[in-house]
Amino acid sequence: MPLCYSERMTAQILDGTRIREEVFSELKEEVARLTTQGIRPGLAAVLVGENPASQLYVKSKIAACEELRLASWLHTPPARSSTEYMLELVDDLNRDDNVDGILVQLPLPVQVDSKRVLETVSPAKDVDGFHPVNLGMLVSNRPGLVACTPAGCMEILRRYKVPIEGANAVVLGRSDIVGKPMALLLMHANATVTICHSKTRDLPEVVRRADIIVAAMGKAGFVQADWIKPGAAVIDVGTNKVTDAAEAEKLLKNFPPRLEKFRAKGNVLIGDVHPDAVFTAGAVSPVPGGVGPMTITMLMSNTVKAAKLRRGRSSVVASK
Ligand code: NAP
Repeated sequence: MPLCYSERMTAQILDGTRIREEVFSELKEEVARLTTQGIRPGLAAVLVGENPASQLYVKSKIAACEELRLASWLHTPPARSSTEYMLELVDDLNRDDNVDGILVQLPLPVQVDSKRVLETVSPAKDVDGFHPVNLGMLVSNRPGLVACTPAGCMEILRRYKVPIEGANAVVLGRSDIVGKPMALLLMHANATVTICHSKTRDLPEVVRRADIIVAAMGKAGFVQADWIKPGAAVIDVGTNKVTDAAEAEKLLKNFPPRLEKFRAKGNVLIGDVHPDAVFTAGAVSPVPGGVGPMTITMLMSNTVKAAKLRRGRSSVVASK
């Protein structure tokens, strides 16, 4: 009788939801400690217009603040807002001493110069870690605010005690918000890092040498199970909504329960790594439930970190 998929699985599941709980409970203690010192870290979110996906993201971020008892403010300028209006709003938030973190939800409407707006956020309050000053701090391995998704990937690796020092790490993708900061973080943790992109030659061979693979390309199930060295740790950043039935059947043929769910719902979230990776890898972060929950977690951690750095306390819980 053939083995069922759970019996063939070799990989430990790197559970982002569990890590989120762990970090949240540490942050709650930290916030309580700060509160006794008269500091209540606070996040100001700016949501322009009525993009439903953005509304949902911002709602979860505010809910996370409430759960951790952080102060939060939501600013909702209309979709027709100009760059000048946005610059003024960000300036006001930069000057507001109660605000430790400023989150400008992307995408901004086309008439707004997103780059100018993001660069106006004070680097000390840039909890998304997108400001060039914070990127520079990361390049030179100095304390600053690190982009949430790559910081979350590192948190998963560290908390699951995946050996990083001396490991061959391959990062697939070189975006400013995921691939590049990820590669820098791994390098500072003493991995030997290879960055791959759409022009990389013989990708499968490069991936086969990796002890740690971080996939952030935006291509459903692209990294094949037989590219993965047995025992390697795989962090799957990709979040791709698959709606095509033939594609879903092909990707999930070894996962009957997930296929059933797809048939009922008409869509499924698939990472950049083929789901069959659980049969070759040593450890895999699932999609959903791996990197996803870590992004908001690190936003919260960055807000607390920003409060401490700006108000003169230096110890931090996560993403040191
Ligand atoms: P992005 O800006 O579109 O960058 C994609 C990168 O992948 C680029 O560097 C591109 O190379 C590379 N790439 C594309 N096709 C490739 C191929 N065939 N071979 C090798 N490299 C290839 O994407 P991103 O913003 O970094 O996001 C990546 C993925 O992560 C997306 O699925 C996104 O939804 C997901 N994401 C998830 C979270 C989360 O919280 N879970 C957060 C952020 C992003 P070039 O530079 O040569 O074009």
